Amino acid sequence: MDLDKIRDAGREIYKTARKKKMLSSCHGMWVGVVDGHEQVTSPYCKCPYCKTRTVTKKNGQKELQYYHQYTAFILAGPKISFILDIEPVLPGEGEISSAYRLLERVLREYPKAFSVVIGDGLYLKETVFNLLKKHHKYAISVLKEERRQLFEEANSLSLLSEPKRYREANTEYRVWDHSISGCWDGYGEDVRVIVSEEVTTRRVHKRKGGGFENIVERANWMWVTNLPYSPQDKLDDLKNTVEICHSA
Ligand SMILES: [Zn+2]
Repeated sequence: MDLDKIRDAGREIYKTARKKKMLSSCHGMWVGVVDGHEQVTSPYCKCPYCKTRTVTKKNGQKELQYYHQYTAFILAGPKISFILDIEPVLPGEGEISSAYRLLERVLREYPKAFSVVIGDGLYLKETVFNLLKKHHKYAISVLKEERRQLFEEANSLSLLSEPKRYREANTEYRVWDHSISGCWDGYGEDVRVIVSEEVTTRRVHKRKGGGFENIVERANWMWVTNLPYSPQDKLDDLKNTVEICHSA
């Protein structure tokens, strides 16, 4: 595939969508999402860009597998979302190296297209936060248990303080917004850890027999971000921040 052609398509869509005012912000934040994707796997085809790994088949036989991986930068609006640019993950490198090149390019070529970038737990890296900060963009990344220090500090703080509670449609939110310092070696500044416990009640058809029943789904989210606090500590601002974090 010709990557420049794909990037031209992203550029065209962006230009047209912007001109026709199809793009919109999420509560004043223009959101970009960065994520890794796997594209093709094959035991045969091999090109210079193939990554390789060994897979164990059902019969225990080991086989070399070739695959392609790329990172994508998505402009994610409440109305439309589309892929702005992609970057291959080359043989021998990880997703972050590819994402770093991708971010450098979109920061250079689309300096006004986004104000915050969201990534999964992999993107909780000082290199990523610092690169974005250098270009005056904020970062949000999912916080996973592997990041022990931040994770445990956020959990201890949640035990000590009351969450803000609110309801949106069928979901009840309990949200904590902690400011944490000294728990992220390599990133010298305080970060916000937002913890959201969400309980959604859905009314569904009963599997057996007639009538309806309520199904309760629980989701626990944690994000790390350097988004600034709003001057007034208003519930609406926290609600908006949680919604922005969920844009990915
Ligand atoms: Zn290949």
